[in-house]
Amino acid sequence: MKDAKQKALVLLSGGQDSTTCLYWAIDRYGRDAVSTVSFDYGQRHFIELDCAEAVAAQAAVPHLCLPIDTLAALGGDALTDPDIGVESGIDESSGLPNTFVPGRNLIFLTYAAAHAYRNRIANLVTGVAQTDYSGYPDCRQETIDALQRAIQLGMESDVQIHTPLMYLSKKQTVELARELGALDAMALTHTCYNGERPPCGACPACVLRAKGFAEAGVEDPLVSNT
Ligand code: ZN
Repeated sequence: MKDAKQKALVLLSGGQDSTTCLYWAIDRYGRDAVSTVSFDYGQRHFIELDCAEAVAAQAAVPHLCLPIDTLAALGGDALTDPDIGVESGIDESSGLPNTFVPGRNLIFLTYAAAHAYRNRIANLVTGVAQTDYSGYPDCRQETIDALQRAIQLGMESDVQIHTPLMYLSKKQTVELARELGALDAMALTHTCYNGERPPCGACPACVLRAKGFAEAGVEDPLVSNT
């Protein structure tokens, strides 16, 4: 049986970044040491969870989906509240994109850490990035460092939170996916805020994804295969 330090749990949303992280973890720890977790938080598009399941199945790693009802009950953001359109952009009171779900990454990582604790897994891998992003404050390395410390103290564990994409541009993330052999898996991923496959091509998430692929000179298999 593998030591906890040799095992990794990847937070898999079914998107491009977390899928790249899955292949990063497989490369680093070995396929039989990696498992994945997703969260059903009442997101507008259940397609995300289907994509996460498909990506994990293709990679032949275990996948667990945990339910969290509370974020949708809180409401007020465009990803869980059907009355708020993603197109409207910025939330006027906070100045943050209206797709910001307050506390989401903190909660996901804390639940993931609890699952990892129970299963003797010492490494969490998340696809958060502070470059090229919408300025979500819970995607900053400083936030992740503080949360890692809080979890280490609060669970008396030596859990490490890995953020392999933190300082990469979208272009560099696409290049990394190519290096890791993750491009085939990209056909199964989902990025569009409007929940469309093939992607709508117009929402902020689609635009950012397309820009990354174009700059890397790689054809997006999601666009060419769907
Ligand atoms: Zn879109």
